[in-house]
Amino acid sequence: MASLGLLGSSLDWQYKTIPNNISCLSSIGEQCRFSRGKSLGGTTAINHMLYIRGNRYDYDRMNISGWTWKDLEPYFLRYEGLQILDQYPASSRKYHNSNGTMKLEYFDDPRNPWHMRTVEGLKQLNIPYNKDLNGEYQIGVTKVAGYVYKGERMSTARGYLARNDVKKNLKVAKNAFCTEVVIDDDNIARGVTVVQNLQKVTIYARIEIILSAGAIGTPQILMQSGVGPADHLQEMGISVRSNLPVGNDMSDHQLPVVIVKVDHGGIVDSLVGLTSKAPQVLQYLASRSGPLASNSLQDIVTLINTNCYDFDLRQYSGNSSRCELADMQIIQSYIDKGLVALAKPLVKQAIGFNDQVLDQIEKANENHGLIVFSPMVLQPYSRGTVRLASIDPLQPPAIFANYLGDERDVEQMVKSITFLEHLMKTQIFKKHKASILHLNLPGCPAYKCGRVEYWRCYARHMTYSGYHAVGTCALTRVVDEQLRVYGVKNLRVADLSVLKNIIRGNTASVSIAIGERIVDFLTEEDNP
Ligand SMILES: Cc1cc2nc3c(=O)[nH]c(=O)nc-3n(C[C@H](O)[C@H](O)[C@H](O)COP(=O)(O)OP(=O)(O)OC[C@H]3O[C@@H](n4cnc5c(N)ncnc54)[C@H](O)[C@@H]3O)c2cc1C
Repeated sequence: MASLGLLGSSLDWQYKTIPNNISCLSSIGEQCRFSRGKSLGGTTAINHMLYIRGNRYDYDRMNISGWTWKDLEPYFLRYEGLQILDQYPASSRKYHNSNGTMKLEYFDDPRNPWHMRTVEGLKQLNIPYNKDLNGEYQIGVTKVAGYVYKGERMSTARGYLARNDVKKNLKVAKNAFCTEVVIDDDNIARGVTVVQNLQKVTIYARIEIILSAGAIGTPQILMQSGVGPADHLQEMGISVRSNLPVGNDMSDHQLPVVIVKVDHGGIVDSLVGLTSKAPQVLQYLASRSGPLASNSLQDIVTLINTNCYDFDLRQYSGNSSRCELADMQIIQSYIDKGLVALAKPLVKQAIGFNDQVLDQIEKANENHGLIVFSPMVLQPYSRGTVRLASIDPLQPPAIFANYLGDERDVEQMVKSITFLEHLMKTQIFKKHKASILHLNLPGCPAYKCGRVEYWRCYARHMTYSGYHAVGTCALTRVVDEQLRVYGVKNLRVADLSVLKNIIRGNTASVSIAIGERIVDFLTEEDNP
């Protein structure tokens, strides 16, 4: 529960998606939660800390000069401080670095029995164990490395702000909300306006401005500054500085939350109250180890190409190179028996499902442990948009995520759930009486009346964001290869909004690489 408590907290912008009537139907107001970090370190200060870089092909297929895997790999390696390289196979060495700013280790989750059980179940479906999903091959199940060092979160703030060169050169204005880029009549960016302590201040730039407010914040600031789709800006009464597809083509991982009941031989068999966590709290405080040093997920990740899984034989046969491209990533968390009732307000705040669903989950948890599986659609077809909801820059933007807007994403979710059904039928899961919870959802047929129809409907109700939005100020559409905004001089963007395609993995890795990438653009221009 440790990192779950950050979602919906004051460290989260607490965005919600605009309903599209075909997804997030069991979230409060039919709006999916859309968490984003609101502190130093941005979303790396609240995320789940999993370190997965995506597939090389994800970068190559952008087909943009300077942004292939070969171009980007040095930047991933530059920041990577992998402390556990000696535990990886020798073939992995060339893909990693131990000395970078961002220290990475394994989570300390040694007592969770569902780690080995899940690996064993997946083995029965012929899913390979892969020690390094960021190495030679990307398919398989692994004990995942994370942005965690000595038992504490390794946010980008912890990593970079501790560096002496950064301390010497960087000034941070805390609690300052950027409302606009000041652009003069010649379309040259001159500075930014920020609101700090209820005061509006303009800060002028000596050389240039780099926006790094993420896939939601950056398009919002650009549109407030007159950079965006002309029709939308005119509708909002904003004069157009550069007519660009800002906020378009947002792509995000999406998933159906799948809940599995298991027998209650979990981490703490005799859980009667939060006080029974006391030994774990003490262990964490004394040594930064134990279950609370975990990320509230289990420390395993599975990546699979479902096209290479034989649904009749219930066996994975991913031998060809086409199978190397994962289309599903599974992460999971374990909830001890009775914990939902104890932490219901926290769960509600963090996850945002409505009472009808939460009550059913709470009831199932009365006598069972629960495993919450999140099988992410890694290459979604649905696209969303970010627009201004108000001319007032302090108001949140309109995030139309449009999850499941493309029917193919629903079918992919049904495939993923079918795969999980097969996992539940493996010996080890059967031994622990695992069964997927068939929630009673309004408008959905009963499971026994039509399995596939039920899961399609379920996916539309239990939709959840993967929190990996990209593409709202994409390379070659809004910014050039050097991250300069088209049509405005001295203005660049360096965050996930520039990524044209979503990767097969978790996105903090790329956002940091983009940060390292722009450093070279700037220094190369300073020293041509
Ligand atoms: C719950 C959750 C779990 C996740 N789990 C993982 C994971 O396990 N592994 C992984 O790799 N990725 C994960 N991610 C995704 C990953 O953390 C993000 O994709 C990544 O951090 C985004 O980087 P960014 O630099 O583009 O934006 P952000 O990290 O969001 O940074 C943007 C910064 O700009 C600030 N900002 C925004 N607007 C303004 C404004 N107007 N004025 C001033 N400041 C502003 C924000 O407060 C923030 O500090 C997760 C995300 C979430 C929400």
